[in-house]
Amino acid sequence: MDGICPHCKKAVQRLHFGAVEGGVPLGDSFRCITLCCPHCKTVLSAQVDPVAIRTDILRAIKGGR
Ligand SMILES: [Zn+2]
Repeated sequence: MDGICPHCKKAVQRLHFGAVEGGVPLGDSFRCITLCCPHCKTVLSAQVDPVAIRTDILRAIKGGR
């Protein structure tokens, strides 16, 4: 069963990812992604970018930043 976009009411069978920066006031910022309806581009959710987190962890393990 497909989810339904709350804005355009079309079935969401595939998400469109967007890139945004997230953070807290006076704190660190993180690369994040938006999960959007492929039909109307309404943002359905957002989260920290899992690929960016993986890359940062690997860089830290290797002795980088
Ligand atoms: Zn939509």
